[in-house]
Amino acid sequence: MSKLDGKVAVVTGASKGIGAAIARALAKDGAAVVVNYASSKAGAEAVVAAITAAGGRAVAVQADVSKAAQAQALIEAAVEAFGRLDVLVNNSGVYEFSAIEEVTEAHYRRLFDVNVLGVLLATRAAARHLGEGGSIVNISSAITHVNTPAASVYSGTKGAVNAISGVLANELAPRRIRVNVVSPGFVVTEGTHAAGIVGSEMEAGLVAQTPLGRSGQPDDIASVVAFLASDEARWLTGEEITASGGIR
Ligand code: NAP
Repeated sequence: MSKLDGKVAVVTGASKGIGAAIARALAKDGAAVVVNYASSKAGAEAVVAAITAAGGRAVAVQADVSKAAQAQALIEAAVEAFGRLDVLVNNSGVYEFSAIEEVTEAHYRRLFDVNVLGVLLATRAAARHLGEGGSIVNISSAITHVNTPAASVYSGTKGAVNAISGVLANELAPRRIRVNVVSPGFVVTEGTHAAGIVGSEMEAGLVAQTPLGRSGQPDDIASVVAFLASDEARWLTGEEITASGGIR
């Protein structure tokens, strides 16, 4: 018996990077998984194919989580495909960095729409279906603790995710739904490749400050999420786990 046998999970932004690793980890632990994507259909289908090839159950569902109707349709697709909902992982996220002099309304709205409004909308839709033993895991960032220059907007979105998670942990506790946060340090993903961070001096500097002496990999984060999603973490709610190789 695996720790997520019989559970149904939605992972937002699971077409690549950390979300794809989370989807694979939850499926490996027995969950049926909805692999959400915004635009990377092929990536999401490859994650589904890997899960089904390993004997698991998964479907890919397109939805922009920053749009209320689409976030709701995503959750309804999970219930329709697998009959229930037990786990929501709010992983979808965008990151861009900007010195304060260059911050624009468009930059602010793009990051807050996906990273904050997307979490609220997916959670709102999921809260209607989650029952006792339900688990919500929100992916924040260790950046909220290190005050990185040029990250005022991105770090602001993740600080909001932390605050929202604490409120919802209390708000949903009477229904025995747990809400926790995983805050990764730097992780090698398609996103951090595209942002030019992988292989950069910035990455070298981060590794130099990381006690465990390397960059994070998506699977390093996924195993922590799988734990929080499961009943092994039944006494944890309102917690933040910083998964960063020890960097603070
Ligand atoms: P990534 O490789 O860029 O992947 C981002 C994922 O989010 C993709 O699946 C993307 O889908 C999805 N997405 C973007 N906008 C969306 C929207 N409007 N609706 C639904 N899905 C959307 O990112 P990552 O590096 O794996 O990061 C994943 C999460 O971890 C983010 O929340 C990020 O802030 C956080 N994080 C990352 C790091 C790091 O170093 N990588 C560190 C700390 C925290 P499409 O491909 O279909 O567009």
